[in-house]
Amino acid sequence: MLDKHQGARLANLWDDGKAAGMTEPEKLLYRSNLLGSDKRITNYGGGNTSAKVMEKDPLTGEIVEVLWVKGSGGDVGTIKMDGFSTLYMDKLRALKGIYRGVEFEDEMVGYLPHCTFNLNPRAASIDTPLHAYVPKPHVDHMHPDAIIAIAASKNSRELTSKIFGDEIGWLPWKRPGYELGLWLEKFCQENPDARGVVLESHGLFTWGDTAKEAYETTIEIINRAIAWFETENTGPAFGGRSKPVLAAADRAAIAKKLMPVIRGLISAGESKVGHFDDSQAVLDFVTSTSLEPLAALGTSCPDHFLRTKIRPLVVDFDPAQPDVGNTLAGLPEAIATYRADYAAYYERCKRADSPAMRDPNAVVYLVPGVGMITFAKDKATARISAEFYVNAINVMGGASGVSTYVGLPEQEAFDIEYWLLEEAKLQRMPKPKSLAGRIALVTGGAGGIGKATANRLMQEGACVVLADIDETALEAAQTELSTRYGKDFVRSVNMNVTSEAAVESGFGDALLAFGGLDILVSNAGLATSAAVEDTTLALWNKNMDILATGYFLVSREAFRIFRNQKAGGNVVFVASKNGLAASPGASAYCTAKAAEIHLARCLALEGASAQIRVNVVNPDAVLRGSKIWTGEWKEQRAAAYKMDVDELEAHYRERSMLKLSVFPEDIAEAIYFLASDMSAKSTGNIVNVDAGNAQSFTR
Ligand SMILES: [Zn+2]
Repeated sequence: MLDKHQGARLANLWDDGKAAGMTEPEKLLYRSNLLGSDKRITNYGGGNTSAKVMEKDPLTGEIVEVLWVKGSGGDVGTIKMDGFSTLYMDKLRALKGIYRGVEFEDEMVGYLPHCTFNLNPRAASIDTPLHAYVPKPHVDHMHPDAIIAIAASKNSRELTSKIFGDEIGWLPWKRPGYELGLWLEKFCQENPDARGVVLESHGLFTWGDTAKEAYETTIEIINRAIAWFETENTGPAFGGRSKPVLAAADRAAIAKKLMPVIRGLISAGESKVGHFDDSQAVLDFVTSTSLEPLAALGTSCPDHFLRTKIRPLVVDFDPAQPDVGNTLAGLPEAIATYRADYAAYYERCKRADSPAMRDPNAVVYLVPGVGMITFAKDKATARISAEFYVNAINVMGGASGVSTYVGLPEQEAFDIEYWLLEEAKLQRMPKPKSLAGRIALVTGGAGGIGKATANRLMQEGACVVLADIDETALEAAQTELSTRYGKDFVRSVNMNVTSEAAVESGFGDALLAFGGLDILVSNAGLATSAAVEDTTLALWNKNMDILATGYFLVSREAFRIFRNQKAGGNVVFVASKNGLAASPGASAYCTAKAAEIHLARCLALEGASAQIRVNVVNPDAVLRGSKIWTGEWKEQRAAAYKMDVDELEAHYRERSMLKLSVFPEDIAEAIYFLASDMSAKSTGNIVNVDAGNAQSFTR
């Protein structure tokens, strides 16, 4: 039921005590953050807020009227003071004199920088005229699900007047831009008592004389829409359920199977990262009778389809008789058909100056009985696309429950998607990093070399799953890396690499978290030393289990995923100088390390035809940050060389040919090289990172 998801009223969070000492721009920031903190009020990055403030002109010292308005590309929920652009109101008004009419409205964007107040570098957004020309000091423009549900109903004008009377007006669909700004101004002049206006297929404008009044009006109007839906939309959501919902564990199991296969089929142009959502709103939609017809209509609010493409792909899966094998077999054709349909849409709608067709693959994949999978160039974008589609689901549920839902006309949708101003925004985006969209799993990821490797790969844009058995260290590493690179980029799994079940389940978690796998760094290890006559069978087996068997188990799992995904793959083993060079008193360790190196060569041979590369990095004596080089092993090594533990680092440095210490970051650099396209033509290789050791020269 729709009201389960958006039935609760929005709380008025305005705190007079907090707002008391604030300047007008500070109150604008406060109000914006309050509004953006609830996705029912506006979606991520959607909507904008403004205040017209009297300020002293830095050039003339005169008091002038300045428009503070959310700048281009910001999000009201997380915006800070520098996210607002500031413009002279008199100059914005003067623009009317040079406006040549609606067919030239895009050129007006080029004049906005000329109106900048106080050298503010924040670019003004396309929506700036919408705020400038509403003759009210404080203006909110939001994309609330409950209001868009009205705006996307066939009789939206009638519904708006039924719910709000004369308080809230209605304007027909118009692409946001200069002309819509003039429409809003005209509306306000003709309806001086109105408190806001619903924009068809788009969202809500509200205003007030003070920041508090604007905020409270926005909340009140949205709450009235929510309450109205509560009494009017009482039927079953989306016409009722026609398919069963699978149990949570089964949903996850199906998603893990589908995600890497879909990813492989859509990642030819750019690697993509996935997101899985089986929240209640999604499940209601993907089990309903209206799934196919509503999904085919596409989304309504421009923000929704810019993020989710014009429509989703409904995966052919029957939760009543689940046969995922059949679904997987049908995916290549289903995805090819979606691409052909998208290309046909582009051809039908393109104009003489339209930018070239962009990626024709779907962003949103709806799986009946299971949930929603989204894919985008990075995790945050995939997650946000899913949030947007949940907004779209709420809108469709509301509109179809009280009226007939209408998507935006195809040509209007196309004109927004391929808007030259939108294209210019895309062209300004920084070039993607070398590992953007790649997904890596690093075993021993919480330790010295493992964490340094995760850090290096994330620096290049990769998503990383840290796998480790040390829960405390794992948590600390995840916190550290997510603080540095963002929560979306890192996950952790508790993984004992010697357990077949733990390895399978850990890789499964990685698939569910990011949708696939490109890079495995097998690094989890230990080190022991003992003379051969003192080496117990248990000690021997421990080395073999963790090093030889552990490397085998994680590689086997990665190979299985790579083969399903059909997009190549990359394995890097962290072995040891001791895999090549014999060392006294450590036969179990050295032999197991030699097994790893030979395993890598065997796998390189097996994987080559599927573009799976396998290479080895051999570190030596990386003491710093290492969990191996603590306690016993360190003491044993020091004892073997008849020295103090503190002297070990210097000892190894002096022993090396280059007289240098080797750090985790040095190993991470070599791993990054082998895991990236820089080494695209290398497989079965060994890179020694040991500051030079003649014994371990490869031959
Ligand atoms: Zn908008």
